[in-house]
Amino acid sequence: MTKVAEFIDVTKIYGGATAVDRLNLSIEPGQFVTLLGPSGCGKSTTLRMLGGFEIPDHGRIMLGGRDVTRVPPNRRNVNIVFQDYALFPHMNVRQNIAFGLELKGMASDAIERRVRELLDLVELGPFAERMPTELSGGQRQRVALIRALAPDPEVLLLDEPLSALDAKLRHQMQVELKSIQKRTGKSFLFVTHDQEEALTMSDLIVVMNKGRIEQMGAPEALYRNPETRFVANFIGDTNILSGRIAGTDGARIVLDWGPRRVVARACATPAGAGKAAEIAIRPEAITLSAAAPSLDNAYRATVRERIFKGSHSLVSVALEDGAVLDVVADASGATELANGPVWVGFSAEDAVVLPAGAPS
Ligand code: ADP
Repeated sequence: MTKVAEFIDVTKIYGGATAVDRLNLSIEPGQFVTLLGPSGCGKSTTLRMLGGFEIPDHGRIMLGGRDVTRVPPNRRNVNIVFQDYALFPHMNVRQNIAFGLELKGMASDAIERRVRELLDLVELGPFAERMPTELSGGQRQRVALIRALAPDPEVLLLDEPLSALDAKLRHQMQVELKSIQKRTGKSFLFVTHDQEEALTMSDLIVVMNKGRIEQMGAPEALYRNPETRFVANFIGDTNILSGRIAGTDGARIVLDWGPRRVVARACATPAGAGKAAEIAIRPEAITLSAAAPSLDNAYRATVRERIFKGSHSLVSVALEDGAVLDVVADASGATELANGPVWVGFSAEDAVVLPAGAPS
């Protein structure tokens, strides 16, 4: 399959500081790719290089099989949507969408058809003659999105387009954006620092840290198999246990964690016995019970704190030596258990060994 876009060993340096460091990334047709990472990790620079707004210092950028590394933005077939999503205020919805097509010199009946098709796609057909001020926030966002899709770009670039919205509209738009992307079959390159947003929409999440790709994969795979502490912490909440490799049990890894043993899932590159290692375990993978659970790992504990969250409770427990674990528990069960000694347990499958000492 021809790749829609490709970064080949791309580096960008600003005044001696490396913003993007030997980045290799491919975008497949119809793929929703998200660049995720903390502020300053190089996400926007990466996106802007594909848009042609920045030129790499090293490496090549390919678009539709063509080397566009030095091709200016107006001569590559990509479009970009920024955070403010601004529509032209003096034009109605139809004129807003038609604008880019007129610039391209498209015939007026073809423009009319394209505008109609796009409005139908987002169920805004009856709103063609409305002015932007006569639309809700969500409707404005949908119009801005189809306006950017109108000229049929090879990739649509979206730089934190939802970050200015309130939480409710933001959630709605995440679902909407993903649905529009699926229905149009277009490739999207989306930038965000919000892990939940990335998990909701992406086919591929590229986790960036200090200009480099830390790990990439499908949302569920990244969530279940973080390879570094940085990824384990950045995507979802995680307990990180610092231990030492004690040996193996079949394919599984056995570690010493303080005075106790932990059995963890087999991993590709197990460190040797005696080596320091960290184990990542998700709070929702830990059970809380009155009696000892029959799980690979089970420890006595006491509840330190319980925070009611509606659908669940966040419970912080202390093991006998004072080590602390965060647990996501069923809201009612956690209430019952709040005042007495408890057991915590988790399966080896849910305990992931991370290479210790990896930079985070
Ligand atoms: P992100 O989008 O992940 O927040 P950016 O790609 O915007 O990160 O920035 C990456 C790094 O490059 C940061 O350290 C930032 O300060 C720097 N940087 C970005 N753009 C410029 C620029 N035009 N001039 C100088 N430094 C820049």
